Amino acid sequence: MPIRCEIVSQDRMVFEGDADIVVLPGMEGEMGILPNHAPLLTTLNMGILKVRYKGEEQYFTISGGVAEVQPDIITVLANAAENVNEIDLARAEESRRRAEETLAKGPPPDTDTFLAMEAALRRSNLRLEAAHRYRRSHPRPGSSTEK
Ligand code: ATP
Repeated sequence: MPIRCEIVSQDRMVFEGDADIVVLPGMEGEMGILPNHAPLLTTLNMGILKVRYKGEEQYFTISGGVAEVQPDIITVLANAAENVNEIDLARAEESRRRAEETLAKGPPPDTDTFLAMEAALRRSNLRLEAAHRYRRSHPRPGSSTEK
């Protein structure tokens, strides 16, 4: 029996489907969750969530959140989440450029602004790296079959 997986972000249902294993970005590293796992409530780091079902893998970027595990279902409530195939690269690059530009201007007016810019930079870096690494339509450098 597979385990059900639901990934919900603040503005939409990002994914719902069955899984043979779900790998969560836990605060202390990756957490692999199999069907019939003991009930668990955990906070999530910013990172990659992997869903594997029948040999197929799907990858999601998660900007932190919480996960509730029950034996038959995992519910992820994410601050923001995207399937790597949905990531808008131009938007992530623009977001990274904005954050870098603001941080390069010198000390921000207050700690909150600094933390917000630093978090925006980490989100955009995560999206860009995940898209390059896990997108099927985006071959890794050097993997081209062209001669
Ligand atoms: P931006 O500065 O581009 O708005 P952000 O990191 O501030 O980026 P979030 O607040 O994390 O954005 O996310 C807001 C919503 O936009 C979420 O639904 C998130 O999934 C989506 N989103 C953010 N960036 C991207 C992206 N590059 N591609 C696709 N969806 C994105």
